Amino acid sequence: MGITDVHCHVRWHGMDIDGWVEHFASIGVDRAWALAWETWWRRTRGEYELPTGDVEEAVERYPDLFVPFCCIDPREADFDRRFDDYVEKGFRGFGEMKLRLRVDNDDCKRIYSRCGEVGWPVLFHMDRCLQPGGQWYLANVERLEPVLDEFPDTAFIGHGPGWWAEISGDADDRSEAYPDGPVTEGGRLPRLLREYDNLYADISAGSGYRALTRDPDFGRDFVLRFADKLMYGTDNSDTKHLELLRGMDLPDEVFSKVTRENAARLVP
Ligand SMILES: [Zn+2]
Repeated sequence: MGITDVHCHVRWHGMDIDGWVEHFASIGVDRAWALAWETWWRRTRGEYELPTGDVEEAVERYPDLFVPFCCIDPREADFDRRFDDYVEKGFRGFGEMKLRLRVDNDDCKRIYSRCGEVGWPVLFHMDRCLQPGGQWYLANVERLEPVLDEFPDTAFIGHGPGWWAEISGDADDRSEAYPDGPVTEGGRLPRLLREYDNLYADISAGSGYRALTRDPDFGRDFVLRFADKLMYGTDNSDTKHLELLRGMDLPDEVFSKVTRENAARLVP
């Protein structure tokens, strides 16, 4: 059985559709969630970050490999029409949701509500504002908790520096995007993962990798504890996340859950 990468962007970091096909074949990935990223302010300028159209193209060419996720900014006038259209076309999830809006904003809630109706997971990127004028997306984790209560039928998958900093209890005292060093008790992320059935995380990008490696014993224990909640993803074409999981010497059952089965449960 192959591996599922739940965090792939079709044209990103110099990769294209054929590049991914070759790369995935070489490392045993046979299913990849293809994520878009669109925001309203860019689209009004005729620009896109990572358009859903690229996802459609990838899935048309390699329907067995790519799993289509759409992204629509809820502030767009045609949000509902486009959402219905992607449901009709057989899309399977929403993401990457990465907006300069609070995670509990009413516009964001339209996404959670519609995804709950159609059984789509929402994969989101969270970034904390670390200095005046700094970049942030959807922050913060505390505002997420009431959202998880309000939308129990929606599966939420967290990702990004502002998400993974919360693995440790000292997140509020750390001003770096990618905190290093020992994890302290009382992190909001472990608590929320433990308490909410509808919350998951992907281990992709530098943020996920850092969170699991900054305190290696904690990292391995975290993977064992949340074997039903974590999913392998990369957000790029390097193989360090896979090497990390392999190097943890996990029981086969845990490795299968994180690299395939949890993803298959959310997107059968
Ligand atoms: Zn991404």
